[in-house]
Amino acid sequence: MVKRNSHACSFCGRVMPEMFSGMDGEVLICDECIEAGHKIIAARPKTIGDKNSGLSLESLPTPQAIKDFLDLYVIGQEDAKRFLSVAVYNHYKRVLQEISNDDVEIEKSNILLVGSTGTGKTLLARTIAKLLKVPFAIGDATALTQAGYVGEDVESLLVRLLQDANYDVAKAQRGIVFIDEIDKIARKSENMSITRDVSGEGVQQSLLKMLEGSIVNVPPQGGRKHPEQELIHVDTKNILFICGGAFDGIERKISQRLNTQAVGFAAQQQSALVDKNNLLQYIAPQDLKSYGLIPEIIGRLPVLTYLQPLSREALRNILTEPKNALTKQYKKLLAMDNVTLTFDDDMLDFIVDKALEYKLGARGLRGLMETVMTDLMFELPSQKNMGKTQTFTVSKAYAQEKLGKEKLIQLQNAG
Ligand code: ADP
Repeated sequence: MVKRNSHACSFCGRVMPEMFSGMDGEVLICDECIEAGHKIIAARPKTIGDKNSGLSLESLPTPQAIKDFLDLYVIGQEDAKRFLSVAVYNHYKRVLQEISNDDVEIEKSNILLVGSTGTGKTLLARTIAKLLKVPFAIGDATALTQAGYVGEDVESLLVRLLQDANYDVAKAQRGIVFIDEIDKIARKSENMSITRDVSGEGVQQSLLKMLEGSIVNVPPQGGRKHPEQELIHVDTKNILFICGGAFDGIERKISQRLNTQAVGFAAQQQSALVDKNNLLQYIAPQDLKSYGLIPEIIGRLPVLTYLQPLSREALRNILTEPKNALTKQYKKLLAMDNVTLTFDDDMLDFIVDKALEYKLGARGLRGLMETVMTDLMFELPSQKNMGKTQTFTVSKAYAQEKLGKEKLIQLQNAG
């Protein structure tokens, strides 16, 4: 930019005391036109991903709207939903406002969800990606190894994201990656030597940079890098990482911490207020450190929240309430064959009883329902009654007949 005086502005034509031009000096612009131009650019909607995805600051759903959407698909888990809604909202505000020129830098807020398997961690992450229409990839931390060892490199997570974005790098760079079983890469003891901990601290170190934001060279087809292969550079700065883990036994660490903090009379009163049946709600970064996550990783997962074990009531609701609840899916499938399907309430209670008795969790509900429904789905379509609608009610007795003890044990072993 070269400063010139007393010339006419090429845009508004006015002669102003101060005029700016490019290096060639031919086109001149006055400070008022620069300001007007800046306002136009600043007011332009900024989009996430490609221009067609349409997510702009104006259209970014509010935390309440994000939570309302999650409520349609995920039962319970109120705390996790609230934390997640705020974190996701802030993350995309940060992404969309990147081009601001003040000094306040909004830091990246990757998320850690702690809760037993099958309580909805993946479902939450997947549902957020669905709402925002951003690319989504799931990876499992146990499959990852430190670079150079046999197993997957951390870049493999980005390969999947790229694939989901149809290799549109800009779009992938604003996606969401869910990394499951992050607890499995905890080092086994707080003081262990790091040199031969291939699956623990080494992997945590490899993940660090990616979580924080760096340019990662990704082999387009996945797999090992070959010297002659062209690599895709993916900037992870705006990728939202949501990590999940069961952290089995972490309640003990939480309880230890609460007890050691509790000294003196006031503390005794405080400890009486602690809900010992749900210690996970008190989870704090120190507990993750005692569990074996390195402080740097914990620092890069600043939003920490928990998921509760699913109660009988929650399991029962999962069968009927979510937008794509299993019972709704079966009804829809059979409606295509002109069959009106209903489920007796006590049949659904029976399914929940068996899921609890055989410790199958929410994930097991599908297997149980599938076992009950398979014969029906085989037989009913061939009994089509020339345009007439048939009805079928799945009773508890029918479910009991299909779910013999042997089948249940099979399902338990498969889970
Ligand atoms: P996690 O990632 O915690 O191991 P998932 O999210 O994969 O568990 O849950 C497994 C399946 O169980 C989901 O696909 C969903 O069908 C069901 N499920 C689990 N938790 C919930 C929930 N809170 N609300 C609705 N469905 C759930």
